[in-house]
Parts: sequence; structure tokens; C-alpha cells
Amino acid sequence: MENLPVEDVLHRFLLERAGVRGALVRLGPAWREVAGRADYPPALHALLGEALAASALLTGSIKLDGTLSIELKSSDALRLLFAECSDQGRLRGLARWNEPLSEPLALDALADAIMAITIGNVDRGQRYQGLVDLQHADLAGSLEDYFVQSEQLPARILLAADGEHAVGLMLQKMPGEGGRDAVRDDDAWNRVVHLTATLGAQELLAIAPEQLLYRLYHEESVRLFEPRPLAFGCSCSRERVTSMLRSLGRDEVEAALVARGDEIEVVCEFCAQRYHFDRIDAEHLLSESAAPGAPGTPQ
Ligand SMILES: [Zn+2]
Repeated sequence: MENLPVEDVLHRFLLERAGVRGALVRLGPAWREVAGRADYPPALHALLGEALAASALLTGSIKLDGTLSIELKSSDALRLLFAECSDQGRLRGLARWNEPLSEPLALDALADAIMAITIGNVDRGQRYQGLVDLQHADLAGSLEDYFVQSEQLPARILLAADGEHAVGLMLQKMPGEGGRDAVRDDDAWNRVVHLTATLGAQELLAIAPEQLLYRLYHEESVRLFEPRPLAFGCSCSRERVTSMLRSLGRDEVEAALVARGDEIEVVCEFCAQRYHFDRIDAEHLLSESAAPGAPGTPQ
């Protein structure tokens, strides 16, 4: 049998007898790339890994055109956490915080905390956003709430991350099919949830995807779909930075030019790509915004 990839991969699967669909994400290099961009405190490091795995996991359950992001905000020490996966399997993420950050990090104890899940296409201005109150200490619990809220279907989500890997497993009860009674569906769902509950975070992190699914669900006739490759990647571009600068307006761009000797440097926080603009570039982008009908001109 051909060896399937064991890192930076999304596996979608079906437990046919139980009427349950699922996804399993295992990140290695992509996670280490994101984690290595800042000196995250341990609790935040783990949470960011979980969120990154979850962003890829959630793309397994929808038809995505653009990106899916998970964003956490609070007025507490954890100010922002952002994880994103694109339809091309490109992942990026970051977090901002103030010291001291409490360990362990209980999401339901954060002041004014909210989680937003945004699905959409930035370039086409299309997006759907779901907001979730954080009523669980962990991220997985809040994501389960999101599924009940948005799809009226129960979901079970397991997430774990360490220095090497970030892993997520998701199960979703499929809508009942004709001829099946609800009690049998519930029994099957409960059985699968029970099997899944036997898995600890250490096993989730240690075992390769196919082995893991076989070990858990070998009696449930697992059907595996073609795995989807994932990788670290950023969607920043000179065009996007240009329109960001344009949206700041002339006064701010002028102030930025003066502050750095007639040059603006914008560094992408996700991938550290540097974008430079001199006075001529700045004049050009500002004059474009003044032209009638130019993209981005307010109506
Ligand atoms: Zn970037």
C-alpha cells in the first residue's frame, strides 16, 4: 500500500455505518513555522496550535472559496489570536498578548472575550461571520457550540498541540437519512463519541492519521477520502499593503514617510515579508485614490 502523508495533511473520512462524517488534521512543519514567529508563553503556544489545526479542520466540512479564519479577542491579557486556512490549504496565524498571561489559559474566564469564525473571499468582498460566546475553558468546546449554533448538528472536536505537532479531530453527525429512526442514529452517534473519548491528547499527538482512525473506528467501516496537503503560507501582497496604506489617508502616509526619512516599510506580521514604499510610490498610491472611479474610492 502506498504511504500517505503523515504531516501537514487533512484527512476527511466517513463512518458509513454510524452516519458520521469526520476530519483529521495533523500539522508538523506548518505549525512549527507559525509557532517560531514569536516567543509565545506555553499556554498561548498550545492554544495557537489548536486554533491553527482547527482552522484547517473546519475547511474539511464546508465547500470553501477563499479563507476560513478563527479569531479570538478579549480585553484581557490575551488580546488577539488569529488562525486561518485557505482553500489552497495555506495556513497562517498569530497571537498578541500582554504579560502576565494566566496559566492555564481558561477562555471562559477572559474578560469581554468573543470568538469569530469568518468564511469568505476577501478579494471579492464576500464573507460570512459567525460569533460564538466562549462558555468553555478550551477552544474545542466553543467550536462544538459553533456547530450546534450554525448547523443544528452535534459535533465532537478534539484538539492538541505541542512543540512539534498540532492535531485536530472532528466528528459530525450527518442529517438523518430516510428510513432510519432517530433513536438508532443517536445510538450510533453516542457509540462513536464514546470511542473517541478513549483517546488522550498524547495519543492524538503521537499516532499517524491513518493508524489513529483505524485504531479508533475499525469496527465502523471507515471510508477515507483523498488527503489534502496543507502548508504554511501567507496571502499578503504588495497590492493589499497598497490598499491598506491608501485607506489610512494622506495625513498618516505623510507622517509615516517623514518618520522614516521618506520611506515607508511595512512588515507582514504573519510571514515577515517586507514591503517598501518611497515618496514616489506613496504619491502614486495616494493620487490613484483621488482619481474618480479608482478601486477603493468611497462612493
Ligand atoms: Zn505575509
